[in-house]
Amino acid sequence: MAIKIFNTINRKKEDFVPVKKDSVNMYVCGPTVYSHPHIGNARAAIVPDILFRVLKTKYKNVVYIRNITDVDDKISNAASEQKLTVYDISKKFTDIYQNNMKSLGLLEPTHQPRVTDNMPSIILTIEKILNSGFAYISENHVLFDTVKYKDYGKLSKRTLDEMIDGARVDVADYKRSQRDFVLWKPSASDQPGWESPWGLGRPGWHIECTSMINEIIGNDTTLDIHGGGNDLIFPHHENEIAQGSCISSKSYCNYWFHNGIVLVNKKKMSKSLGNVILVDDLLSKHSPYTIRLALLSAHYRQPLNWSDSTLSEAQKLINKFKTLAQSVSHNEDPVRLDDEIIDILSDDLNTPQAIKYLSTLAKNAKTNKKDINRLVSSASFIGIDLLSNEASKSNLSDINHDHINNLIKQRNEARECGDYKKADEIRDALLHMKISIKDLDGETVWDYNPD
Ligand SMILES: [Zn+2]
Repeated sequence: MAIKIFNTINRKKEDFVPVKKDSVNMYVCGPTVYSHPHIGNARAAIVPDILFRVLKTKYKNVVYIRNITDVDDKISNAASEQKLTVYDISKKFTDIYQNNMKSLGLLEPTHQPRVTDNMPSIILTIEKILNSGFAYISENHVLFDTVKYKDYGKLSKRTLDEMIDGARVDVADYKRSQRDFVLWKPSASDQPGWESPWGLGRPGWHIECTSMINEIIGNDTTLDIHGGGNDLIFPHHENEIAQGSCISSKSYCNYWFHNGIVLVNKKKMSKSLGNVILVDDLLSKHSPYTIRLALLSAHYRQPLNWSDSTLSEAQKLINKFKTLAQSVSHNEDPVRLDDEIIDILSDDLNTPQAIKYLSTLAKNAKTNKKDINRLVSSASFIGIDLLSNEASKSNLSDINHDHINNLIKQRNEARECGDYKKADEIRDALLHMKISIKDLDGETVWDYNPD
């Protein structure tokens, strides 16, 4: 089954066809490293992680690039507030981000370029844009000339007026049009800066992504997929297309892929509302699999409304799946990858449908042991290891598997000896622990039903 992706630039779901038959390159805008990652950052990383997993089942070479923005005024501000260097701040929060994503079970991208490691190529890309006549120099700034680029607005489909309103407009005299955006800006001596043909300065945000993409996949190469949160469509991705297109004969990117925002109790997350949920805080209270399932519970293009019940529902499901998976031995049956989960996810990453499918398998597993194996392999495909014995932080999963298996063994031994009274007593004791048991194909499977 072909992979279908909703392509933002054409506003429709399309069959995905890469430029080269066997290989795919995908770039996703990564974090600006100045504070602890929140669940919005986690969603923006977990959605492409699922796409990366699906792409890898169909293509030999999948190159997934997620950048680190380690030059930004927000980083400089955090450094001066905390009396640390810019380097200390960006290093600290890069490490935290990468650890958080690893804890949530995300696969490592093929490349994680940092802006500070790519300054020569960023300067070179700006020079190319200047030479092609699409940029101008004004008061030590290099600015992109949006009036010259006729397709400006093609991704966001905004009108000229809307773009002027939507741009992060600081009405600046040095701009020919308010829509024009900075490729390079001057740095004062106390700001991070690099020597350039335009003096000591630093790049604008948009040019960083375009330069790092070209640096890795090559100039005059079309990117297959570009992802990011839908708040980046304008101006960030619109500007990336403008920059990349005016210096290349090839199309900049074929598929634009955007995820929706995370709301907390139906409200936008913001520092001023005090409702920002940090990944670190979640990880200290919940199992990473619970958080992962909760993040995948809404379709990626829809807003994800985060509330206590989002987590408790995910927790219940994980516990149910886990107890079922661990109720039988998996030694003889190698866990095989299930095509159905890949087909479901190939249809524009339908993660709610994938979770429904796991629930159906769990339901069927009570009468069909093979479905336990399918449940384990399908969950594993979306990054949830049901056989893992890692200590879970939630109360509901404080189940002692060894103790339960031991009681079941004693019950079966009692039955074999004809001691049905003892066997029933053990069954009642298990029921009291909310564990129901079923004898299936000569083996006893058990299920945890907390409700
Ligand atoms: Zn970007």
